[in-house]
Amino acid sequence: MSQETIFTKIINREIPASIVYEDDDTLAFRDINPQAPFHVLIIPKKAIATINDINEDNAHLVGNLYVAAAKIAKQNNFADDGYRVVMNCNEHGGQTVYHIHLHMLAGKEMGWPPYQDTKKETI
Ligand code: 5GP
Repeated sequence: MSQETIFTKIINREIPASIVYEDDDTLAFRDINPQAPFHVLIIPKKAIATINDINEDNAHLVGNLYVAAAKIAKQNNFADDGYRVVMNCNEHGGQTVYHIHLHMLAGKEMGWPPYQDTKKETI
């Protein structure tokens, strides 16, 4: 499953975004609704809808997202302090845009776990 999302429009410069990093395969731009002092979305230029669509053929594009994350952390001087990267999948994961993206959050100390448990159940 792969279809156009708002991120395709950002890649194609059809809508504006505050771009912080770009290379041949990867784009990173500031989240429109930041949840930390520094919050960017790191995306592959080739659309992959969800984590469930990652496979041996496109896995290198996902690896490149982490390479970009490491570069962005160094460029913005928070590599040593630390940061969080998160990728949400589907409804329970909180995914709203179906073009995979790493959320990169930095500039404050993060809490863990990232959600409040209502029931202690395992599956
Ligand atoms: P998800 O919920 O899918 O994990 O994350 C989607 C993210 O995309 C959200 O954090 C949301 O704020 C961000 N977002 C949605 N639309 C836009 C947009 O048009 N521009 C930018 N820069 N971020 C967006």
